[in-house]
Amino acid sequence: VVVVGAGGAGLRASVGCAQAGLKTACISKVFPTRSHTVAAQGGISASLGNMGPDDWRWHMYDTVKGSDWLGDQDSIEYLCRNAPAAVYELEHWGVPFSRTEDGRIYQRPFGGMTTDFGKGPPAQRTCAAADRTGHAMLHTLYGQALRYNTEFFIEYFAIDLIMEDGRCRGVICLKLDDGTIHRFRSQLVILATGGYGRAFFSATSAHTCTGDGNAMVLRAGLPLQDMEFVQFHPTALACGLDPMPLVSEAVRGEGAVFVDRAGNPFMQGADLSARDIVARAVSQKYAEGDSVFLDARGVQPEKFPGIFAACRAHGINPATQPIPVRPAAHYHMGGIAVNADCESSVTGLFACGEAAATGLHGANRLASNSLLEAMVTGRMAAQAISGRTTRNGKAPPTLPQSSAISPAIRDISSQYLGIYRNAPGLELAMQQLAPLATRSNPALVALLIAQAAWRRQESRGAHTRTDFPQTDPAQATSSTINLSDLSNIGLAA
Ligand code: FAD
Repeated sequence: VVVVGAGGAGLRASVGCAQAGLKTACISKVFPTRSHTVAAQGGISASLGNMGPDDWRWHMYDTVKGSDWLGDQDSIEYLCRNAPAAVYELEHWGVPFSRTEDGRIYQRPFGGMTTDFGKGPPAQRTCAAADRTGHAMLHTLYGQALRYNTEFFIEYFAIDLIMEDGRCRGVICLKLDDGTIHRFRSQLVILATGGYGRAFFSATSAHTCTGDGNAMVLRAGLPLQDMEFVQFHPTALACGLDPMPLVSEAVRGEGAVFVDRAGNPFMQGADLSARDIVARAVSQKYAEGDSVFLDARGVQPEKFPGIFAACRAHGINPATQPIPVRPAAHYHMGGIAVNADCESSVTGLFACGEAAATGLHGANRLASNSLLEAMVTGRMAAQAISGRTTRNGKAPPTLPQSSAISPAIRDISSQYLGIYRNAPGLELAMQQLAPLATRSNPALVALLIAQAAWRRQESRGAHTRTDFPQTDPAQATSSTINLSDLSNIGLAA
């Protein structure tokens, strides 16, 4: 098995494959513990009920509702039922979760989490290792992957899939230190290449998030799903850094509130609403010429050592001053279309984690469900493929392609594909991106976002069309997009 990606999803899939006795190679363009997952702060959802009553059914209800009713309910049920086991597994492998005074895993509230199917008080469902949950998980998973003899190929850049007779038979990679091209022949491939936030100027995503897996899949002739649904996080630290440091939603969970430039709260107590709602409210303030801050003066600094340190490094002391924040591209609900086993429509090709459209988030991801997605879908992909390998292998080849990112792409995305969209802007974006998309993965995924957003003539979840502001019940379905759909802008050929 070849696993492309060594973030949370790729490492969990690698551990699962190696545990099942499969010869497993994990390829990553960066050292595994530098993958984007390392930046995840707030935590991972599971209805452990350590801080008060909770139930996986309430988690499921919140996730379906948070998805703006576009999530796949069977997949969501599986996710929420299996969340506690995923967290206990991480605990047993060594993740140093924060603890309650009586020694249980500490859990904090996040946006959109309720009890009693929305009728009870907010749930405290997010299991945290201070504000470094992703860091703790990634290091633990890397250790486990080594323990089970996963073979790592580090600083190898996957360029394209090897497709033979309608099957995926491996990947072609560029070895970054010497520029040589390598073919990895395998019976099965799992893509866990993460998101594509780098297509935007304001993004919290690491430099690795360039949508490579999505672009590879599209070039191989497979569909992508729900590309229009990009989640913008309302509270990136407005300090001029790229990527923008995140001020986790957990800080609001622990009591911080939004204030405007004059210091007045403006969310009427709804500071912890679902992300799409809050991102629009913050964006609206900026559109009115105001600025937005997070007043975290009542929050205990020891709960967020990393976030408070990042603020102090930029001259802001959150204990005494409001923190300046702005929305930024943060997560992608769409991606490689897969079924409940994380299998694509092509034999031998699987995808998991943020690179995949797993149906778990619909039009809008609920906070702290993506680390969970990485664990549950990584394990699922490994489970689905174990027992499906044989010992046959045949000769390879395919042509390599190169990938580059330019500021022009990020400029176009940020201008036309952001929180608010409309037809003229999307059409301009498509025109400008089309000539760039044959040479660059980020340009290609940005073009796909534009095309999918242009076709979805309604507002739903994280996708807001100013020319179609209402949600249209007739469009309550997932979208798919293929290379052939780009023929109207001359790309399919
Ligand atoms: P990644 O971690 O992005 O891993 C992708 C891997 O693919 C990397 O190893 C990379 O090297 C490799 N790769 C990519 N392209 C190639 C290529 N061409 N060739 C070879 N290798 C390649 N979610 C939560 O649930 N809770 C949180 O508290 C939370 N906090 C967050 C905070 C921040 C600042 C951000 C930006 C996100 C946060 N998220 C959080 C979201 C969550 O971190 C991600 O959705 C999740 O980590 C994605 O994991 P992944 O394994 O799918 O992808």
